[in-house]
Amino acid sequence: MTATRITPGLADAPTDVDVVVVGLGITGAGVALDAATRGLSVLAVDAHDLAFGTSRWSSKMVHGGLRYLAKGQVGVAHESAVERGILMEITAPHLTRPMPMVVPLSSSVGRVQAAVTRGGLMAGDLLRRGAHTEAETLPKPRHLTRTETLRLVPALRSAGLRGAMLGWDGQLEDDARLVTTVARTAASYGAHVRTRARVTAATGAGVTVRDELTGATYDVRARAVVNATGVWAGDLDEQVRLRPSRGTHLVLRGSTLPHTRVAVMVPIPDTTSRFAMVLPQPDGTIYVGLTDEPVTGPVPDVPQPSEAEIDFLLGVVASAFTTPPTRDDVVGAFAGLRPLLEVSGTDATSDLSRRHAILTSATGVTTVVGGKLTTYRRMAQDTLDALVAAGRLDAGPCRTASLPLLGAAAPDELRRTSAPARLVRRFGTDAGLVLATAREVTGLADDELLVPVSEVVPVTLAELVFGVTHEGAHDVADLLDRRTRVGLVTTDRASAEPLARRALELAGRAAGAT
Ligand SMILES: Cc1cc2nc3c(=O)[nH]c(=O)nc-3n(C[C@H](O)[C@H](O)[C@H](O)COP(=O)(O)OP(=O)(O)OC[C@H]3O[C@@H](n4cnc5c(N)ncnc54)[C@H](O)[C@@H]3O)c2cc1C
Repeated sequence: MTATRITPGLADAPTDVDVVVVGLGITGAGVALDAATRGLSVLAVDAHDLAFGTSRWSSKMVHGGLRYLAKGQVGVAHESAVERGILMEITAPHLTRPMPMVVPLSSSVGRVQAAVTRGGLMAGDLLRRGAHTEAETLPKPRHLTRTETLRLVPALRSAGLRGAMLGWDGQLEDDARLVTTVARTAASYGAHVRTRARVTAATGAGVTVRDELTGATYDVRARAVVNATGVWAGDLDEQVRLRPSRGTHLVLRGSTLPHTRVAVMVPIPDTTSRFAMVLPQPDGTIYVGLTDEPVTGPVPDVPQPSEAEIDFLLGVVASAFTTPPTRDDVVGAFAGLRPLLEVSGTDATSDLSRRHAILTSATGVTTVVGGKLTTYRRMAQDTLDALVAAGRLDAGPCRTASLPLLGAAAPDELRRTSAPARLVRRFGTDAGLVLATAREVTGLADDELLVPVSEVVPVTLAELVFGVTHEGAHDVADLLDRRTRVGLVTTDRASAEPLARRALELAGRAAGAT
């Protein structure tokens, strides 16, 4: 198959393929990659853009499944730990990194609770070992003295602090970047990946899809149709019932909790094993999350955090840090909806199934829903395996467990590359391609292509241009809210907008000239 580029709209899209994938969050992008690498022809579409839905509102963690273990779901926990290891060591070492996590043992944490925390982290390490993930990738947990704890997180309240437990999990550079990279890898194996293309009707034999740029509709025939539309899955297949739950994060500047370079798990007062997370990000911001609020009614395009959630998260942080952030320190806030499958006989969303499910309805559409970013690869593998087993597709075995995404390389190799650090962090070994493309398309010198928007906004013109030329970005929102994440802070978004417009103009002009 020949490599294709991600493009907006449906011009020249195929109308007869093996697989149509509906939705380009992490799940749909993963299915497109799995199918294309099995040699199948693929059309994968999103009504809006890559990572438009839940996949860009996550905590950006690569989870080892400890939470499942706490609920006795050993198989699901093991699966999550295995997928974490694959992502960090094989498929996306360039987009993931080990994240140290400190659980402070303050006066409000009793001896029993401290022992439970220690046991949990040890069990998490057993999961790591069971998944054959190297201790070099995720070191073993250990106890920290009070002095060590305050050296790692000087902003913590010191009164009553006995020490801390230190554990490790994976962190993503950026969830939307993972989606974009998986989608671009799928395109490199020949999948046709199109944004601004909404499926308005689907059966197992094909879809009707509308080009949102021109309004034109097309009928596409397929041997299998995969509904990977997350919280919107019920709109395309009424047999799928979801009960979304909202998770909110706050965005703070790094200077608000100075020198916090490790994640801090803050026990939620009056609970035994619930935590809020303070998560330093590679771009210098800090996220604070996470809530779990059941939601009812129509699913919005962009969910909004409630004031009550913002106050709750600020309150939890205040219990652990010397100078607690105030409402004015909250420079951004975002919310995402978990696509939780309704399981009969349960009420609370925290009891609903968090594993993925694959369902084929009477119409023949196959829906894959649930799971998480960490397990996207396994979700895709299970979906294609199910379609092959049912005789709907004729294809070989899954290849993705040993298939690096575009730009992947071991940390050592990445450290040796001479390309600009910001680009290496977000594109791995493709950093050189990003810069070479920007040079060629714009004719500009490196100092103009690589200068950050400002001291607090590290985004460069080079990556924005590449977003247009190689990643299907169509407008300012695609560039600032999904190819980069400047949009998470409103004032930063405004400061980066002129550069995004310039990238669109320069790349558009170059495309017009060819
Ligand atoms: C607050 C929060 C925090 C989380 N944190 C983590 C974490 O740290 N680590 C982790 O591993 N997981 C995490 N998760 C879980 C993870 O984010 C989700 O499971 C995952 O992103 C779901 O991806 P998806 O592709 O299934 O859905 P989505 O990302 O929502 O994608 C669905 C896509 O379908 C498109 N679409 C809808 N209807 C149509 C149509 N008719 N035609 C074409 N396209 C359509 C939408 O535009 C959208 O882009 C978190 C979830 C939440 C809510």
